[in-house]
Amino acid sequence: MSVSKYYKPEILLCPKCGSKLVYRYAISNKLIYFTNGKHVHIHNLGYGCNTCKDNQIYFSQTANKLAFKGYTYSAKIICTIAILKEKNMSREEICDYFFTKNIEISDRNVDNLYRKYQECIKLDHKELISKAYRNMLDAYGQIRLSIDLITVSGNIFVIFYDYFTADMLAFVRFAGLEDPKLYDFLSQYIRKDMNISVIASIRRDAIFIPMLKNLSPAKTKFIAFNKF
Ligand SMILES: [Zn+2]
Repeated sequence: MSVSKYYKPEILLCPKCGSKLVYRYAISNKLIYFTNGKHVHIHNLGYGCNTCKDNQIYFSQTANKLAFKGYTYSAKIICTIAILKEKNMSREEICDYFFTKNIEISDRNVDNLYRKYQECIKLDHKELISKAYRNMLDAYGQIRLSIDLITVSGNIFVIFYDYFTADMLAFVRFAGLEDPKLYDFLSQYIRKDMNISVIASIRRDAIFIPMLKNLSPAKTKFIAFNKF
């Protein structure tokens, strides 16, 4: 039997008018497999604003980043598959590896997830981020981001999501937190002169979070993904 977890928006105030958001409906309810062998029903609860009545649904950034849209394996499992493929492990060996971690996965799924990885790593983040920033500024007068950091055997994956649409804007791999390319990448999209109001990210990291904070405007509010 698997457990259920319910997530609501990390900020329960409307970004347009400041009213308290109210529950509307669950925007997703899916079983997700994690690298620790657990599988959990994740319910992402959607909230709306009764004052603005604008049909915008706000949701949990934590629940959104746990697994890619349309996938039931965690984002970290997808990154792990990519690393194992690079070690020249066959589909069957990868299935066996996950089986020992209590994760059931078919060889067909390994292929599907690896295809998803290849699709993500090719995203044109420059284009996607500048478009998303324009749209956010038009609709809300501010930029909000969710930034996830996934570590798999020394490699790190930095994933940007649009806070309002949940769309993935960037999926970039680096050779660890000390990789100078990481700073170059972040400083392109997080700058003091940008109207960035909120960044949702991982709870605590002594290098990554200070790096984000140094680049952001002083007013940027940092919120942590809920503990999972
Ligand atoms: Zn409102």
